[in-house]
Amino acid sequence: MKQYQYQVPAHRLFWHALRLRCPYCGRGKLFSHGFTMNDHCSNCGWIFEREEGYWTGAVAVNLVVAEFLAAAGAIPLAIMQVSPVLVMSIGVPLVIALPFLFYRHSKSFWMAFDFMIHPVSLTEKN
Ligand SMILES: [Zn+2]
Repeated sequence: MKQYQYQVPAHRLFWHALRLRCPYCGRGKLFSHGFTMNDHCSNCGWIFEREEGYWTGAVAVNLVVAEFLAAAGAIPLAIMQVSPVLVMSIGVPLVIALPFLFYRHSKSFWMAFDFMIHPVSLTEKN
């Protein structure tokens, strides 16, 4: 039995993720307001959480990217032997703030990445 799959082109997935839209149709919003994520797409009905624990990878990538950026900002200051108090006063707020700033896009890009690796099978859709 042949299984049909729907592959969204990578450039469209990237565009949908950047705009926080449904990776499947690109129209429905992922978030209703703030950090509150919709369960499914208001346009096509796609359920965003494909399986239990789906967002674990998004959270991990979010933390790694945020901490990398904070380190990229703090390490040059430390090498230049700037006051440790100044380095900490810049680095600590960045370490706390960046994961919140990237939270929504980390989920969005996680979904896009997942769509590239695991295209939607027609049996999965609806
Ligand atoms: Zn949709």
